[in-house]
Parts: sequence; structure tokens; C-alpha cells
Amino acid sequence: MNNHDYIPIAALNQYAYCSHRYWRMFCAGEFLDNQYTIEGTSLHDRVHTLGEGHREDTWQVRAVWLKSEQYKLIGKADLIEEVDGNWYPIEYKRGHKREWDNDELQVCAQALCLEEMIGQKITQGYVYYAQSHQRQLVNISAELRVTAIATIQAIQNIQQSGKIPPAIYTQRCRGCSLYQQCLPQAVDKVKRYQEIK
Ligand code: SF4
Repeated sequence: MNNHDYIPIAALNQYAYCSHRYWRMFCAGEFLDNQYTIEGTSLHDRVHTLGEGHREDTWQVRAVWLKSEQYKLIGKADLIEEVDGNWYPIEYKRGHKREWDNDELQVCAQALCLEEMIGQKITQGYVYYAQSHQRQLVNISAELRVTAIATIQAIQNIQQSGKIPPAIYTQRCRGCSLYQQCLPQAVDKVKRYQEIK
């Protein structure tokens, strides 16, 4: 990694979901669609074609490129809204809110970029879950910022060291489109066999 390398904002989401999945997608260049990823891509395509305009007191602009020189981040926000001089990044997701907070991390990374671009503090954003048709408020808290910055640093460390994060079987593997390539349970079995040998 050098000074010209930027981390895709979506990489933070994938890293928080599973660091090994992040490595497969963004370092090894692997990606396989499953039902969830196809629905997600289709949702983003629909959102991005809607353009910009006013909705009552809210100005909305879609598919906005964001960049941060400080954090070396780059990516696209699905929707940015401005209400009474306050700006809000909004990320669209196909499903419903789950127990892990990787979507919040993605919104926080968008906020870090937006702050640098407009020179104004962003205090809140949203994740819109298409399945439940609900907006989930994301407070861009000091704690979330610390987590986002730590995630950026962890990703930079992987890029610089070339070290592959281990594949560890968890509940998240069940919905992972890379399961067939990764086979984390098979890796665990081989390790256990090596240990008792
Ligand atoms: S199958 Fe599990 S360990 Fe492997 S990339 Fe997916 S989530 Fe990560």
C-alpha cells in the first residue's frame, strides 16, 4: 500500500462482518453472488437511478462519490440528504437490521468523508432496510468513530503486511456467498487433526 491507495468504504462493512471475507473480496479479488448479494446489487441500481431533488424540506442527492484524504477512503453514498443545513448519509440495505453493526460502520465511514468534503461535522446518518421499509438511525458517536478508524487501520495493516486473516466458522458463515470457496469448517477440522496427530 502507498499514499495513492484508497480503501473502498464498503470494505469496512465486509471487514466488520468477517476479516477473512474482506481479504477474499478486496485482496484476492474473489466474489460470488448469492441470493442476498444479487438482491442487494439490484436495490442499489434502482436507488442510484432516482437522481436528485427536493422532498418537502429535504434536499436529496443519490449515488454521490465520497473521498477522504485523511483516512484514505473512497466510495459511493446511496443517498445524501440535507435538512436545515445538516447533512445525513443514508445507506440502503436489502434485508432487515441484524445483530451485528457493520452497516453502521459503513455509514460512519461515509460521514468521515463527507465531513472532510464539506468542512462540517456530521452527527447522524441512516441505514434504510428495504425488507422492513425502515430507516435505522445511526449516531456518529465518538465510539463509532473510534471503531471505524481502528477498522481502517486494521485494513491498512493487512494491505501492507499481506497477512491473510484466518477463516473462522461463525453464525455469519451461513449467509456468506463465499462459503463454498472458504469452507471454514473443513479448515477447522484439518487444524484439529494436525493438533492431535
Ligand atoms: S465462510 Fe465464514 S469465514 Fe469464510 S469468508 Fe464467509 S463469513 Fe468469513
